Amino acid sequence: MNSPSPTSLLGLDFQELSKIAQEHSQPEYRARQLFHAIYPQRISSIDSISTLPIQFRASLRQRGLEIGEPGIEKKFESVDGTIRYLIRLNDGETVETVWMPEGDGGETGDGSDAAEHDWDRATICVSSQVGCAVNCQFCLTALLGIKRNLSAGEIIGQVTAVLNDRKVDLERQRVNIVFMGMGEPFLNYHNFMKAVRLLVEGVGFPESRMTVSTSGIIPGLERFAEEPVRPKLAISLNAPNDEVRAQVMPINRKWDLEKLMHAARQFPLHNRERITFEYVLLRGVNDAPEHARQVVELVRGIRCKINLIALNPGPGLAFQMPEQQRVEDFQRLLTSAGIPAFVRRPRGRDIYAACGQLKRTLG
Ligand code: SAH
Ligand code: SF4
Repeated sequence: MNSPSPTSLLGLDFQELSKIAQEHSQPEYRARQLFHAIYPQRISSIDSISTLPIQFRASLRQRGLEIGEPGIEKKFESVDGTIRYLIRLNDGETVETVWMPEGDGGETGDGSDAAEHDWDRATICVSSQVGCAVNCQFCLTALLGIKRNLSAGEIIGQVTAVLNDRKVDLERQRVNIVFMGMGEPFLNYHNFMKAVRLLVEGVGFPESRMTVSTSGIIPGLERFAEEPVRPKLAISLNAPNDEVRAQVMPINRKWDLEKLMHAARQFPLHNRERITFEYVLLRGVNDAPEHARQVVELVRGIRCKINLIALNPGPGLAFQMPEQQRVEDFQRLLTSAGIPAFVRRPRGRDIYAACGQLKRTLG
């Protein structure tokens, strides 16, 4: 896989910025000014950092350095207020990032752009790789294959590009981040966690407002369990037993349900935290009452909740959406067994922005 462009400041931590300041014979407080401009202030060009001497700015640029926020190539707006961003990276690759406003004004209903204050809270869904190698059979991203990992700067840059486009003031407005876009975050572990730390320490997101979803990469889960600062955990369960799971998620042949549920049981939860299990309902495959009962047994003893997602359909997928009645029955069986279960409302299906629909669609 290509390594990302080394010319971006976005994604560098304070130590790395200090080294750059040193190389330019600048005192350490210049590194602090750089850090402040790049992260909390989200300035997107070196020339606009007015706290830095003009000469220092010029010599950074002479070295080929820029802040390197990725560009917004195109925006697709849904009738429900969701916006899918096609984001262009410095090497020409593209990824998708989704903005989902919630609240009274979030859904304009007529497809017009939600105005700056038309939402109470919002969620940004961020990609971690260009494409994905995991090959889940119900996911459109899988059809792209894996192109490359995103750098920490490219992961943060999706967030800052969307925040700047939406003119968000994080001190006044509440935004959550979900790492549920294109790619498997735990197969790009180092860059993903570096991005998390910089989002927390720099951009100003508490880790409690972030959730990462994994398809069940066990070594990643074990590392993640040791992190002192980490997002909340969601696991894509998607099946009630190994037979079905191996059919829809080939990764199950490497790490089966016994290993996955063992890792989930061992996972050290914070006070009042729960693991989220995601479960994509596929008609006639995993949506029967018997399957719900098997899921109850699987998660027994784990402090968790279950997010049910009706399949978001797409070309090239061999599965169909479940019947509404099946979804409701499934939810009722889980909740009556004492397991909180929610049906995730699809967002931006009309613009291919919903779960599993991110595949760089241009229309
Ligand atoms: N790669 C990670 C995170 C991104 S996918 C993971 O798989 O967990 C985010 C969620 O979308 C996952 O729970 C996945 O199971 C779900 N998903 C994938 N394709 C989908 C589809 N076509 N319809 C509904 N949900 C889907
Ligand atoms: Fe990759 Fe997640 Fe899609 Fe599976 S569901 S192919 S892990 S992005």
